[in-house]
Amino acid sequence: MPEATVAIVGAGVAGAAAAIRLAERGVQVDLYEAVPEPRPIGAGLLLQPTGQRVLAAMGLLDEALALGTRVDRLFGDTPSGRAVLDMSYRRFHPEAYGLGIQRGALMGLLWKRLRELGVRWHCGVAVEGFEPDEAGVTLRLPGGGAARHAALILANGSFSRLREGMKVRQRAQAFPWGAVWTVLPAPPGFPQIELRQRFQSAAKMIGLMPVGKVRHDDAEHGINLFWSLPVADLDGWHERIGLSRLKQQMADLFPDVAPLLAGLHEAAQLREARYADVWMSRWHDGRVLAIGDCAHGMSPQLGQGANMALIDAHELAAEVGGDWPRVFERYSRRRRAHLRFYGQASKGLTPMFQSHAVVAPWLRDRFFGWGGRLPYIHQQSIATLAGVKTGWLWGRLKL
Ligand SMILES: Cc1cc2nc3c(=O)[nH]c(=O)nc-3n(C[C@H](O)[C@H](O)[C@H](O)COP(=O)(O)OP(=O)(O)OC[C@H]3O[C@@H](n4cnc5c(N)ncnc54)[C@H](O)[C@@H]3O)c2cc1C
Repeated sequence: MPEATVAIVGAGVAGAAAAIRLAERGVQVDLYEAVPEPRPIGAGLLLQPTGQRVLAAMGLLDEALALGTRVDRLFGDTPSGRAVLDMSYRRFHPEAYGLGIQRGALMGLLWKRLRELGVRWHCGVAVEGFEPDEAGVTLRLPGGGAARHAALILANGSFSRLREGMKVRQRAQAFPWGAVWTVLPAPPGFPQIELRQRFQSAAKMIGLMPVGKVRHDDAEHGINLFWSLPVADLDGWHERIGLSRLKQQMADLFPDVAPLLAGLHEAAQLREARYADVWMSRWHDGRVLAIGDCAHGMSPQLGQGANMALIDAHELAAEVGGDWPRVFERYSRRRRAHLRFYGQASKGLTPMFQSHAVVAPWLRDRFFGWGGRLPYIHQQSIATLAGVKTGWLWGRLKL
């Protein structure tokens, strides 16, 4: 394999987008993916205006809009009808909106672009380790094979073991809560323009989001259904809780979900999601760089993970030129403020939505809805959601 090429490990949103943006800048890329035949699956994603801008730069936004659904508002309340979240993108910018899209639809678009660009893609190759030196990086491949590259980009998700090979202070903490989720056909008349959540303390949460179709010829638009569960209850939930009891719990919390649940027939339709908080003191180590969830995994509460992955790819390509260690160092500096802000915001906010805490959700219910009606607080909240903030008081991401 030519030594001038850059290896990217992981063909999720981060790895695929980075391969595209680098190939567009004329970089030779080898993309390694552990899964033998990647399929268009995965949870519904809310792509923020920042992530949409990256898709536009790749020439993929129009198609993404045709597949996904425009989300204008986020609304969350308690069973007693107290509004906890009520955010409208229009108050951030008159033309702003979120894009509800199935991960499978997004991956389909990214993979198509990879093929058009002729990126070399090695599927079914789980990279086992790497050894960096002055001149390049040697990858250890299954079966005792090796591959030599000029630089290595780790984009293999929150639970990456390869990340530990970087000489950088790091922490990856599995989050104690996860979720089950599925995409169900939208019943006639089901609301299509808002992300809807209902909370009972922080121990129960249901989320519904319109996410459009995976393929243009799919007959039905989908609604992503998200049900929060502690990780301890996630393992073997179908034996212990069972589908009909789970559906009953969902309908008890949010009766409006009943027509949607008619499309949920078997436990296998529900997929499990686990996540981890990943912190790194910096994201580069010589010729090795971590991006996406591998670099800054967080809970999905702020709806930023895929968005961040797209921004990482875009910002990395903007720094291409010269030696890879310098490129990666400049990238790390460029991303610092934005990634630090969202890491802190996610850590601070997640216990208010997924935990056994009592005080945090009580404060949330009392003050979020009220605070959100104040123009300044609403502006800050919606700018956070839109993915543009680089500091608590000021600072905006310029893409
Ligand atoms: C329920 C849920 C809801 C979410 N909602 C949103 C949302 O609304 N908005 C949003 O922006 N984000 C959301 N996210 C987060 C988003 O899905 C992730 O942040 C994003 O997909 C991360 O992409 P990634 O490419 O960094 O990692 P991943 O998607 O984890 O991809 C890593 C890839 O690396 C491969 N791999 C692993 N190890 C190896 C190896 N050794 N060799 C080769 N390949 C390897 C894996 O097979 C995988 O394909 C959500 C996540 C969940 C779980």
